[in-house]
Amino acid sequence: MAGTVFVSGGSGYIAGFLIRQLVAEGWMVHTSIRNLAKEAEVRAHLGLDDSKLKFFAADLMSDMGWAEAMAGCSHVAHVASPLPANAPKHEDELIVPARDGALRALKAAKAAGVKRFVMTSSMAAVAYGHQGKSRFTEADWTDPTSKDAYAYTRSKTIAERAARDWVAANGGDMEFCTVNPVLVLGPLQSGDFSTSLEAIKKMLEGSLPGLPNFGFGIVDVRDVADMHVRCLNAPNMAGERFLCSGPFLWMREIAAILKAGLGEQARKVPTRRLPDWLVKVTAWFDPLIRQVVGELGRTRDADTSHAKAVLGWEARPVEGTILDTARDMIRLGIVKV
Ligand code: NAP
Repeated sequence: MAGTVFVSGGSGYIAGFLIRQLVAEGWMVHTSIRNLAKEAEVRAHLGLDDSKLKFFAADLMSDMGWAEAMAGCSHVAHVASPLPANAPKHEDELIVPARDGALRALKAAKAAGVKRFVMTSSMAAVAYGHQGKSRFTEADWTDPTSKDAYAYTRSKTIAERAARDWVAANGGDMEFCTVNPVLVLGPLQSGDFSTSLEAIKKMLEGSLPGLPNFGFGIVDVRDVADMHVRCLNAPNMAGERFLCSGPFLWMREIAAILKAGLGEQARKVPTRRLPDWLVKVTAWFDPLIRQVVGELGRTRDADTSHAKAVLGWEARPVEGTILDTARDMIRLGIVKV
Protein backbone atom coordinates (compact mmCIF):
# COMPACT_ATOMS: atom_id res chain seq x y z
CA MET A 1 0.00 0.00 0.00
CA ALA A 2 1.25 3.50 -0.68
CA GLY A 3 -0.45 6.88 -0.51
CA THR A 4 0.37 10.09 1.31
CA VAL A 5 1.72 9.85 4.83
CA PHE A 6 2.62 12.54 7.36
CA VAL A 7 5.76 11.97 9.49
CA SER A 8 6.30 14.46 12.32
CA GLY A 9 9.84 15.62 13.20
CA GLY A 10 11.61 15.07 9.86
CA SER A 11 14.89 16.33 11.35
CA GLY A 12 15.07 13.40 13.79
CA TYR A 13 17.15 10.23 13.72
CA ILE A 14 14.33 7.66 13.55
CA ALA A 15 12.14 9.86 11.32
CA GLY A 16 14.99 10.15 8.77
CA PHE A 17 15.23 6.38 8.36
CA LEU A 18 11.46 6.05 8.31
CA ILE A 19 11.04 8.70 5.61
CA ARG A 20 13.67 7.00 3.42
CA GLN A 21 11.92 3.63 3.78
CA LEU A 22 8.51 5.15 3.00
CA VAL A 23 9.76 6.95 -0.11
CA ALA A 24 11.46 3.73 -1.26
CA GLU A 25 8.06 2.00 -0.93
CA GLY A 26 6.42 4.62 -3.14
CA TRP A 27 4.76 6.81 -0.48
CA MET A 28 4.46 10.57 -0.88
CA VAL A 29 5.70 11.97 2.43
CA HIS A 30 4.70 15.15 4.24
CA THR A 31 6.96 15.99 7.14
CA SER A 32 7.20 18.71 9.77
CA ILE A 33 10.12 20.58 11.22
CA ARG A 34 9.94 23.39 13.73
CA ASN A 35 11.35 26.01 11.40
CA LEU A 36 11.38 25.88 7.59
CA ALA A 37 14.77 27.65 7.60
CA LYS A 38 16.16 24.14 8.27
CA GLU A 39 14.42 22.55 5.24
CA ALA A 40 17.41 22.62 2.87
CA GLU A 41 19.68 21.10 5.50
CA VAL A 42 17.22 18.31 6.33
CA ARG A 43 16.57 17.60 2.63
CA ALA A 44 20.31 17.32 1.99
CA HIS A 45 20.68 14.96 4.92
CA LEU A 46 17.77 12.78 3.73
CA GLY A 47 19.20 12.65 0.20
CA LEU A 48 15.86 11.87 -1.50
CA ASP A 49 14.01 12.77 -4.68
CA ASP A 50 12.68 16.22 -3.66
CA SER A 51 9.35 15.67 -5.43
CA LYS A 52 8.49 12.82 -3.00
CA LEU A 53 8.75 14.99 0.07
CA LYS A 54 6.93 18.13 1.25
CA PHE A 55 7.95 20.13 4.32
CA PHE A 56 5.68 21.98 6.73
CA ALA A 57 6.43 24.02 9.85
CA ALA A 58 4.84 22.64 13.04
CA ASP A 59 5.91 22.78 16.66
CA LEU A 60 4.59 20.37 19.31
CA MET A 61 3.87 23.43 21.46
CA SER A 62 1.71 25.31 18.96
CA ASP A 63 -1.49 24.64 17.00
CA MET A 64 -0.11 26.26 13.86
CA GLY A 65 0.76 24.20 10.81
CA TRP A 66 -0.60 20.76 11.78
CA ALA A 67 -3.77 20.98 9.68
CA GLU A 68 -1.85 22.05 6.56
CA ALA A 69 0.77 19.33 7.09
CA MET A 70 -1.85 16.56 7.27
CA ALA A 71 -4.17 17.74 4.50
CA GLY A 72 -4.47 14.94 1.94
CA CYS A 73 -2.78 12.34 4.18
CA SER A 74 -4.40 8.96 4.84
CA HIS A 75 -1.71 7.85 7.32
CA VAL A 76 0.36 9.47 10.09
CA ALA A 77 3.55 8.47 11.90
CA HIS A 78 3.88 10.78 14.89
CA VAL A 79 7.56 10.46 15.77
CA ALA A 80 8.53 13.89 17.18
CA SER A 81 9.02 14.19 20.94
CA PRO A 82 11.78 15.79 23.01
CA LEU A 83 14.74 13.48 23.74
CA PRO A 84 17.32 15.75 25.39
CA ALA A 85 20.85 14.75 26.32
CA ASN A 86 20.61 16.42 29.71
CA ALA A 87 18.10 16.27 32.52
CA PRO A 88 15.61 19.17 32.13
CA LYS A 89 15.31 21.81 34.86
CA HIS A 90 11.65 20.84 35.20
CA GLU A 91 10.00 17.65 33.93
CA ASP A 92 7.24 19.68 32.23
CA GLU A 93 9.82 20.74 29.62
CA LEU A 94 9.42 17.17 28.30
CA ILE A 95 5.96 16.18 29.47
CA VAL A 96 4.07 19.15 28.02
CA PRO A 97 5.41 18.95 24.43
CA ALA A 98 5.24 15.14 24.40
CA ARG A 99 1.62 14.99 25.61
CA ASP A 100 0.17 18.15 24.06
CA GLY A 101 2.05 17.54 20.80
CA ALA A 102 0.57 14.05 20.50
CA LEU A 103 -2.92 15.44 21.14
CA ARG A 104 -2.40 18.22 18.57
CA ALA A 105 -1.27 15.66 16.01
CA LEU A 106 -4.25 13.38 16.78
CA LYS A 107 -6.81 16.19 16.52
CA ALA A 108 -5.37 17.41 13.21
CA ALA A 109 -5.27 13.83 11.89
CA LYS A 110 -8.90 13.19 12.79
CA ALA A 111 -9.96 16.47 11.18
CA ALA A 112 -8.01 15.57 8.02
CA GLY A 113 -9.75 12.16 7.75
CA VAL A 114 -6.61 10.12 8.49
CA LYS A 115 -7.30 6.36 8.64
CA ARG A 116 -4.26 5.13 10.55
CA PHE A 117 -2.16 6.92 13.20
CA VAL A 118 1.09 5.28 14.37
CA MET A 119 2.77 6.93 17.38
CA THR A 120 6.38 6.41 18.40
CA SER A 121 6.17 5.68 22.10
CA SER A 122 8.96 3.93 24.00
CA MET A 123 9.99 1.16 26.37
CA ALA A 124 10.12 4.16 28.72
CA ALA A 125 6.31 3.94 28.81
CA VAL A 126 6.43 0.22 29.65
CA ALA A 127 9.15 -0.88 32.02
CA TYR A 128 9.55 1.55 34.95
CA GLY A 129 8.09 1.27 38.43
CA HIS A 130 7.89 -2.54 38.52
CA GLN A 131 9.94 -3.81 41.45
CA GLY A 132 11.66 -7.12 40.81
CA LYS A 133 10.43 -7.53 37.24
CA SER A 134 12.93 -7.90 34.41
CA ARG A 135 10.96 -9.06 31.34
CA PHE A 136 8.15 -6.99 29.84
CA THR A 137 5.30 -7.34 27.36
CA GLU A 138 2.82 -4.94 25.77
CA ALA A 139 0.55 -5.40 28.81
CA ASP A 140 3.01 -3.54 31.04
CA TRP A 141 2.88 0.18 31.74
CA THR A 142 5.34 2.43 33.51
CA ASP A 143 4.03 3.89 36.74
CA PRO A 144 4.85 7.60 36.25
CA THR A 145 4.49 8.24 39.99
CA SER A 146 7.19 5.68 40.87
CA LYS A 147 10.61 6.94 42.00
CA ASP A 148 12.00 4.65 39.27
CA ALA A 149 10.50 6.97 36.61
CA TYR A 150 12.28 10.16 35.57
CA ALA A 151 11.32 13.12 33.33
CA TYR A 152 11.71 11.31 29.98
CA THR A 153 10.01 8.06 31.08
CA ARG A 154 7.17 10.11 32.56
CA SER A 155 6.83 12.18 29.38
CA LYS A 156 6.51 9.08 27.17
CA THR A 157 4.09 7.31 29.54
CA ILE A 158 1.85 10.34 30.02
CA ALA A 159 1.86 11.10 26.27
CA GLU A 160 0.96 7.54 25.25
CA ARG A 161 -1.78 7.30 27.92
CA ALA A 162 -3.23 10.68 26.90
CA ALA A 163 -3.19 9.67 23.22
CA ARG A 164 -4.95 6.35 23.90
CA ASP A 165 -7.56 8.06 26.10
CA TRP A 166 -8.19 10.70 23.42
CA VAL A 167 -8.57 8.05 20.70
CA ALA A 168 -10.96 5.99 22.86
CA ALA A 169 -13.18 9.05 23.37
CA ASN A 170 -12.83 10.87 20.04
CA GLY A 171 -10.97 8.70 17.52
CA GLY A 172 -14.01 7.25 15.72
CA ASP A 173 -12.79 4.87 13.05
CA MET A 174 -9.22 6.27 12.93
CA GLU A 175 -6.95 3.35 13.88
CA PHE A 176 -4.26 4.11 16.47
CA CYS A 177 -1.27 2.01 17.51
CA THR A 178 2.15 2.54 19.06
CA VAL A 179 5.69 1.36 18.44
CA ASN A 180 7.63 1.15 21.74
CA PRO A 181 11.37 0.92 21.05
CA VAL A 182 14.20 0.34 23.49
CA LEU A 183 17.53 2.19 23.01
CA VAL A 184 17.92 2.92 19.29
CA LEU A 185 21.36 2.58 17.69
CA GLY A 186 22.61 2.01 14.14
CA PRO A 187 24.06 3.82 11.15
CA LEU A 188 24.22 7.61 10.99
CA GLN A 189 23.52 9.82 8.00
CA SER A 190 25.00 12.98 9.49
CA GLY A 191 26.80 14.36 12.50
CA ASP A 192 23.42 15.41 13.95
CA PHE A 193 22.69 12.33 16.03
CA SER A 194 20.14 11.27 18.61
CA THR A 195 20.86 11.28 22.34
CA SER A 196 20.48 7.49 22.28
CA LEU A 197 23.94 7.20 20.67
CA GLU A 198 25.75 9.04 23.49
CA ALA A 199 26.79 5.88 25.37
CA ILE A 200 28.66 4.49 22.33
CA LYS A 201 30.27 7.90 21.72
CA LYS A 202 31.52 8.11 25.30
CA MET A 203 32.92 4.57 25.18
CA LEU A 204 34.78 5.16 21.88
CA GLU A 205 36.29 8.51 22.85
CA GLY A 206 37.46 7.15 26.20
CA SER A 207 35.56 9.69 28.28
CA LEU A 208 34.26 6.99 30.65
CA PRO A 209 36.67 6.06 33.42
CA GLY A 210 35.25 2.52 33.40
CA LEU A 211 32.12 0.55 32.62
CA PRO A 212 29.18 1.15 34.95
CA ASN A 213 26.94 -1.83 35.59
CA PHE A 214 24.23 -0.45 33.28
CA GLY A 215 22.52 -2.40 30.51
CA PHE A 216 20.12 -1.57 27.69
CA GLY A 217 17.76 -3.33 25.36
CA ILE A 218 19.09 -2.33 21.93
CA VAL A 219 17.33 -2.08 18.59
CA ASP A 220 18.55 -0.99 15.15
CA VAL A 221 17.15 2.27 13.74
CA ARG A 222 16.46 0.46 10.42
CA ASP A 223 14.34 -2.10 12.29
CA VAL A 224 12.50 0.65 14.18
CA ALA A 225 11.68 2.35 10.87
CA ASP A 226 10.65 -1.03 9.43
CA MET A 227 8.25 -1.64 12.33
CA HIS A 228 6.61 1.75 11.72
CA VAL A 229 6.20 0.90 8.01
CA ARG A 230 4.64 -2.46 8.91
CA CYS A 231 2.25 -0.70 11.31
CA LEU A 232 1.23 1.70 8.54
CA ASN A 233 0.61 -1.15 6.08
CA ALA A 234 -0.80 -4.06 8.12
CA PRO A 235 -4.55 -4.63 8.52
CA ASN A 236 -6.42 -4.14 11.83
CA MET A 237 -4.01 -2.08 13.89
CA ALA A 238 -6.61 -0.37 16.12
CA GLY A 239 -5.39 -0.29 19.73
CA GLU A 240 -2.20 -2.24 19.00
CA ARG A 241 1.03 -1.76 20.93
CA PHE A 242 4.34 -3.31 19.87
CA LEU A 243 7.55 -3.61 21.86
CA CYS A 244 10.44 -3.03 19.47
CA SER A 245 13.65 -4.57 20.77
CA GLY A 246 16.68 -6.68 20.10
CA PRO A 247 18.62 -8.22 22.99
CA PHE A 248 19.43 -6.62 26.36
CA LEU A 249 23.19 -6.06 26.71
CA TRP A 250 25.35 -4.88 29.61
CA MET A 251 27.84 -2.12 28.86
CA ARG A 252 30.69 -4.63 29.32
CA GLU A 253 29.13 -6.76 26.53
CA ILE A 254 28.83 -3.71 24.26
CA ALA A 255 32.48 -2.87 25.00
CA ALA A 256 33.52 -6.43 24.09
CA ILE A 257 31.67 -6.18 20.74
CA LEU A 258 33.43 -2.87 19.99
CA LYS A 259 36.85 -4.27 20.90
CA ALA A 260 36.36 -7.45 18.83
CA GLY A 261 34.94 -5.64 15.79
CA LEU A 262 37.07 -2.48 15.67
CA GLY A 263 40.44 -3.60 16.99
CA GLU A 264 42.81 -0.62 17.34
CA GLN A 265 39.99 1.89 16.70
CA ALA A 266 38.42 0.73 19.99
CA ARG A 267 41.59 1.24 22.02
CA LYS A 268 40.01 3.92 24.25
CA VAL A 269 36.96 1.75 25.06
CA PRO A 270 37.30 0.94 28.77
CA THR A 271 37.53 -2.65 29.96
CA ARG A 272 37.46 -2.30 33.72
CA ARG A 273 34.18 -2.19 35.58
CA LEU A 274 33.20 0.89 37.59
CA PRO A 275 32.08 -0.14 41.06
CA ASP A 276 28.46 0.68 41.87
CA TRP A 277 29.48 2.81 44.89
CA LEU A 278 31.49 5.11 42.61
CA VAL A 279 28.55 5.59 40.22
CA LYS A 280 26.33 6.38 43.22
CA VAL A 281 28.79 8.99 44.51
CA THR A 282 28.99 10.56 41.02
CA ALA A 283 25.18 10.77 41.00
CA TRP A 284 25.30 13.19 43.97
CA PHE A 285 26.69 15.95 41.79
CA ASP A 286 25.82 14.83 38.20
CA PRO A 287 22.06 15.25 37.50
CA LEU A 288 22.21 12.99 34.42
CA ILE A 289 23.74 10.09 36.38
CA ARG A 290 21.27 10.83 39.20
CA GLN A 291 18.40 10.18 36.76
CA VAL A 292 19.67 6.71 35.88
CA VAL A 293 21.47 5.56 39.02
CA GLY A 294 18.50 3.31 39.84
CA GLU A 295 19.34 1.39 36.65
CA LEU A 296 22.50 -0.12 38.19
CA GLY A 297 22.26 -3.89 37.80
CA ARG A 298 18.69 -3.68 36.42
CA THR A 299 17.63 -5.84 33.46
CA ARG A 300 14.74 -4.58 31.33
CA ASP A 301 14.19 -7.19 28.67
CA ALA A 302 11.39 -6.93 26.08
CA ASP A 303 9.35 -9.87 24.82
CA THR A 304 8.85 -9.14 21.09
CA SER A 305 6.80 -12.24 20.25
CA HIS A 306 3.71 -10.06 19.63
CA ALA A 307 5.47 -8.05 16.89
CA LYS A 308 6.77 -11.26 15.33
CA ALA A 309 3.34 -12.89 15.32
CA VAL A 310 1.28 -9.92 14.11
CA LEU A 311 3.72 -7.96 11.95
CA GLY A 312 6.27 -10.61 10.97
CA TRP A 313 8.88 -8.25 12.45
CA GLU A 314 12.29 -9.39 13.69
CA ALA A 315 15.36 -7.56 14.97
CA ARG A 316 18.65 -8.01 13.11
CA PRO A 317 21.78 -9.25 14.97
CA VAL A 318 22.87 -6.60 17.47
CA GLU A 319 26.63 -6.87 16.82
CA GLY A 320 26.20 -5.29 13.36
CA THR A 321 24.06 -2.50 14.83
CA ILE A 322 26.69 -1.59 17.44
CA LEU A 323 29.55 -1.72 14.94
CA ASP A 324 27.63 0.31 12.32
CA THR A 325 27.00 2.98 14.98
CA ALA A 326 30.67 3.09 15.91
CA ARG A 327 32.01 3.05 12.34
CA ASP A 328 29.72 5.93 11.31
CA MET A 329 30.70 7.95 14.38
CA ILE A 330 34.34 7.53 13.36
CA ARG A 331 33.66 8.18 9.63
CA LEU A 332 31.71 11.37 10.36
CA GLY A 333 34.34 12.67 12.79
CA ILE A 334 31.92 12.60 15.74
CA VAL A 335 34.58 10.78 17.75
CA LYS A 336 38.36 10.87 17.46
CA VAL A 337 39.66 7.39 18.19
P1 NAP B 1 15.75 12.86 17.80
O1 NAP B 1 16.70 12.59 16.70
O2 NAP B 1 16.17 13.75 18.91
O3 NAP B 1 14.38 13.37 17.18
C1 NAP B 1 13.42 14.02 17.95
C2 NAP B 1 12.56 14.82 17.00
O4 NAP B 1 11.53 15.48 17.75
C3 NAP B 1 13.34 15.90 16.26
O5 NAP B 1 12.88 15.96 14.94
C4 NAP B 1 12.97 17.16 17.04
O6 NAP B 1 13.05 18.35 16.27
C5 NAP B 1 11.52 16.84 17.36
N1 NAP B 1 11.04 17.71 18.40
C6 NAP B 1 11.45 17.81 19.69
N2 NAP B 1 10.77 18.78 20.31
C7 NAP B 1 9.93 19.33 19.41
C8 NAP B 1 8.97 20.37 19.42
N3 NAP B 1 8.73 21.11 20.53
N4 NAP B 1 8.27 20.62 18.29
C9 NAP B 1 8.49 19.92 17.16
N5 NAP B 1 9.39 18.92 17.07
C10 NAP B 1 10.09 18.64 18.18
O7 NAP B 1 15.33 11.50 18.51
P2 NAP B 1 14.87 10.09 17.90
O8 NAP B 1 15.74 9.07 18.51
O9 NAP B 1 14.73 10.13 16.43
O10 NAP B 1 13.44 9.97 18.59
C11 NAP B 1 12.24 9.98 17.85
C12 NAP B 1 11.14 9.40 18.68
O11 NAP B 1 11.49 8.08 19.10
C13 NAP B 1 10.79 10.16 19.96
O12 NAP B 1 9.39 10.11 20.13
C14 NAP B 1 11.49 9.36 21.05
O13 NAP B 1 10.87 9.51 22.31
C15 NAP B 1 11.28 7.95 20.49
N6 NAP B 1 12.21 6.95 21.00
C16 NAP B 1 13.56 7.11 20.78
C17 NAP B 1 14.43 6.16 21.28
C18 NAP B 1 15.92 6.27 21.08
O14 NAP B 1 16.67 5.52 21.73
N7 NAP B 1 16.39 7.13 20.18
C19 NAP B 1 13.93 5.04 21.99
C20 NAP B 1 12.56 4.93 22.18
C21 NAP B 1 11.70 5.89 21.68
P3 NAP B 1 14.36 19.30 16.31
O15 NAP B 1 15.33 18.67 15.33
O16 NAP B 1 13.85 20.61 15.85
O17 NAP B 1 14.86 19.29 17.72
